[in-house]
Amino acid sequence: MDSGLYVVATPIGNFGDMSQRAIEVLKSADLIAAEDTRHSQRLLQHFAIDTPTMSYHDHSDERALHRIGACLEGGGSVALVSDAGTPLISDPGYRLVRYVQDRGFAVRPVPGVCAAIAALSVSGLPTDRFLYEGFLPTREGARVNRLTALAGESVTLIFYEAPHRIEASLGSMIQVLGAEREAVLAREITKLFETIKRGTLAELQHFVSSDSNQQKGEIVLIVAGAPKNATTVSPDVAALLLRLAQELPAKQAAAVVADCSGLRKKLLYEYLIAEKNSRVE
Ligand code: SAM
Repeated sequence: MDSGLYVVATPIGNFGDMSQRAIEVLKSADLIAAEDTRHSQRLLQHFAIDTPTMSYHDHSDERALHRIGACLEGGGSVALVSDAGTPLISDPGYRLVRYVQDRGFAVRPVPGVCAAIAALSVSGLPTDRFLYEGFLPTREGARVNRLTALAGESVTLIFYEAPHRIEASLGSMIQVLGAEREAVLAREITKLFETIKRGTLAELQHFVSSDSNQQKGEIVLIVAGAPKNATTVSPDVAALLLRLAQELPAKQAAAVVADCSGLRKKLLYEYLIAEKNSRVE
């Protein structure tokens, strides 16, 4: 095997998804750098891989990087794996890839499963353009702010979410993006209780809150982009717009919110005028 760092994707729940090349690379490498060596043992044992392992995450100290660098300098090869799926996708590895490339060594992909792409491929939502957002902030205020910045994005949005936060996140999405936005809950992909459910955000919230089983396991949430010519302003964007309009002329307030939300300035301006008129009446 040629010397270098191999970034190896592993299954997200079904060992049958492990590629033949991933097995060969992990068997032939001199060292496996794993996010969690104990977690990876199950996979390695399953495929009878006895390559030495070391722990690597992006907060590992310099000694971990030096150990990997020394192996490559000696003409060896190192395989990077995370707990599941493709390393670096909401997983450790970015610092290591940069470190290795900056020292002139090769970095080679061994592609395979990624939960985001697996969920997108069965979502039934547009796949021609999408934005991978990873995990939303855990604190409500920060989450709402992030969603507000995404509200006008017309491309499909992909989120990872922890099961104990799914209800709260759906609540924030309804608040910011509106209850009628279409979305898909992809849970436990490739596992026994795999669930792929498409509906409006309101329907998904009802689905999740009325069945506690839907608040378990691993979840990807795919959300349709804003309609190209969005004609609705979500409650949060409206509140921001109305507050700004107390400080600025309507045109300026609309321009600022258009910049932040991606919504059309004309739509926001017309919303303000309609609001003003409705108060006068
Ligand atoms: N690197 C991984 C990948 O390529 O998908 C993602 C790692 S990230 C730390 C873990 C998150 O991925 C989970 O919280 C969940 O949102 C998503 N995920 C992983 N496995 C999944 C599965 N089988 N079904 C649904 N989502 C999954």
